[in-house]
Amino acid sequence: MNQAVWRAVLASGNAGKLAELRALLADLPLELVSQRELGVADAEETAPTFIENALLKARHAARVTGLPALADDSGIAVDALGGAPGVHSARYAGVGASDAENLALLLERTATLPMNRRQCEFMCVIVYLRHAGDPCPVISTGRWRGVLATTPRGTNGFGYDPIFLPADGKGSSAELPAAVKNAISHRGQAVAALREQLRAVITI
Ligand code: IMP
Repeated sequence: MNQAVWRAVLASGNAGKLAELRALLADLPLELVSQRELGVADAEETAPTFIENALLKARHAARVTGLPALADDSGIAVDALGGAPGVHSARYAGVGASDAENLALLLERTATLPMNRRQCEFMCVIVYLRHAGDPCPVISTGRWRGVLATTPRGTNGFGYDPIFLPADGKGSSAELPAAVKNAISHRGQAVAALREQLRAVITI
């Protein structure tokens, strides 16, 4: 058994993400440091899938720092749009676009879709690489299916939450208290799966 603390780099400069992941993984012997603190520039997210983008971000951070690396990628994919905005969710209306602008563009592009063709899903992928060349990455995913609303509802959450109507709920995900959303969301599912897999990889 190896009970040493693993120092790992989080391949994101987002302070909120770092705090959230630190809290969620607090019981594991893992010390997370943000790549920004270590002077690592953001990797370009050039791949067409969330999994590939998470892997390329983690590989980049591991290569530059020599540390194990954790990375995530997430977004919303609309079936009738062939999965758009998908990996472009954060910049759908252009680089630097606000959440409100991205949401407005998605509503505009889906305006003529009838309710029975508005299925969509939130996807979250989190990966952990023990080193840049790790052939056995830990990969955990979460998928949350729902329907795209035609008008925004609710003020909780962020991003596309006001127009995502979870298949397993009544209102939009922006109408759910944070704890309820986290228990069922794509991110909640991915983090839960990650904890179990990571525990095996870093404690045995
Ligand atoms: P990234 O994972 O930081 O690249 O961001 C993905 C983008 O997907 C965010 O900017 C949001 O627009 C969207 N997104 C991901 N997860 C959620 C969520 O739980 N609610 C609303 N929007 C989300």
